[in-house]
Amino acid sequence: MNLTNSDLLESLKKYFGFSQFKGLQEDVIKNIVHDKNTFVIMPTGGGKSLCYQLPALMKEGTAIVVSPLIALMKNQVDAIRGVSEQHGIAHVLNSSLTKTEVKQVKEDICNGVTKLLYVAPESLTKEENVDFLSSVSLSFVAVDEAHCISEWGHDFRPEYRNLKSIIARLGDDIPIIGLTATATPKVQEDIIKNLGITDAKVFKASFNRPNLFYEVRPKTQNVDADIIRFVKQNQGKSGIVYCLSRKRVEELAQVLQVNGVSAVPYHAGFDAKTRSKYQDMFLMEEVDVVVATIAFGMGIDKPDVRFVIHHDIPKSIESYYQETGRAGRDGGEGHCLAFYSYKDVEKLEKFMSGKPVAEQEIGNALLQEIVAYAETSMSRRKFILHYFGEEFDEVNGEGADMDDNTRNPKKKEEAQEEVLQLLTVVQKTNEKFKTKEIVKILVGKVNAMISSHKTDEKDFFGIGKAKDEAFWMALTRQVLVAGLLKKEIERYGILHLTEMGKTFLENPSSFMMTQDHVYTEESNNGIIT
Ligand code: ADP
Repeated sequence: MNLTNSDLLESLKKYFGFSQFKGLQEDVIKNIVHDKNTFVIMPTGGGKSLCYQLPALMKEGTAIVVSPLIALMKNQVDAIRGVSEQHGIAHVLNSSLTKTEVKQVKEDICNGVTKLLYVAPESLTKEENVDFLSSVSLSFVAVDEAHCISEWGHDFRPEYRNLKSIIARLGDDIPIIGLTATATPKVQEDIIKNLGITDAKVFKASFNRPNLFYEVRPKTQNVDADIIRFVKQNQGKSGIVYCLSRKRVEELAQVLQVNGVSAVPYHAGFDAKTRSKYQDMFLMEEVDVVVATIAFGMGIDKPDVRFVIHHDIPKSIESYYQETGRAGRDGGEGHCLAFYSYKDVEKLEKFMSGKPVAEQEIGNALLQEIVAYAETSMSRRKFILHYFGEEFDEVNGEGADMDDNTRNPKKKEEAQEEVLQLLTVVQKTNEKFKTKEIVKILVGKVNAMISSHKTDEKDFFGIGKAKDEAFWMALTRQVLVAGLLKKEIERYGILHLTEMGKTFLENPSSFMMTQDHVYTEESNNGIIT
């Protein structure tokens, strides 16, 4: 297609009423218009949908959009229908349609009316649908929420794994567009591999949300009182409080109500009518706070959520980023407060122990990262962005002072000697251990793995015993973030030296270590119970 920039802008205005592209949209759209495989990584709210909707409206044929959530598909279809006089311009194809409706959809596609066809992966797998779609003219296939293809994402869906072979059956060389708000390098690699788009041009937007303030507080038995106090200080503002269990959701919502906070509970155990009632009450601002499990939030687009509180630690940094991402969508204030206790981590570990081994290992690796986030004393924004493979300048970067650790810095101390000891142990054990073993070797403790390698007989065994395990865990995390070590994700966290790490060993320099928070249980000072 031969299109000028003004053609694109004209279509943007015509269909969506916008006069400018947002972020990377224009570049993405040009790539898609030229029938190239494309991979779009943008945070939620970044404007991903328009990246495939606009080219779909401009191109010959029908674009297939694979999406996991029926409710989201319906919203999108309604929105597209709103920009056109043609009702048939967008359709959903799913098993809930009547025979007459399916006939209409097929007719619209064959007549070239339908530009966007939304399907769930399970509908796309159906033989009759594959047969039909392979007989019509398609412009491209967009795979939305593409992280669902990866076990390392926060929402793995096995049906996504079949997409590549199904798309191949729809026709030769149909361009594939993958889109996700999941930023971890591991998930991205999985998407590219599983969709078979190694040649795709990758468009990745920054995941920094400079208006969000990140804070972690110790979770004590008085956590409810702490939450009530916070919510009361923010009276009249909209907020979400996430809890792990449905029971806790209901209890906490009640406690809030008793204390004069207008709050509703939300979890998947309520029937659809009750859920939508509570959701609407929150959206319409009849209540300030929704206390919810993670069932709440997908597709919720309330621009002025002012705080997101986590009563329990989330299961990964990825989930935490998604959940806190619902705050401050309008660019205004957004306070992200998580309550952390190691006991919760143990609970989650126990919960996972019933699952298949591979799932457990992945779950534990993800959990260790969020523990590291909770316990770190470095810039939380830097920590999150580092996790997403993004550099962040904690002095001059946008939003640099927007976290508890940066506002109230903890003490720093020279740890050059200890970093050398740590790197030496990683090197001399031939880079085959995870953090847990490395730390044990440093303090001179044995476990089965260490004794099976006879590492306890080596001269470096116990070279770091002047410090305790907590110190070494903290140092390892900071050294990882500083880039002297890296973790091999495929093998669940084996530590390796980086080039920077090797240079440090040859030519050591100063390493200022931040002392980690020490969380102790505090007693309630008795405000509210
Ligand atoms: P994502 O799918 O990445 O979460 P959406 O596609 O839902 O993001 O877009 C987020 C919001 O940004 C929507 O309200 C959308 O209408 C708006 N938006 C998208 N593109 C533009 C643009 N070029 N100009 C103004 N607003 C836009």
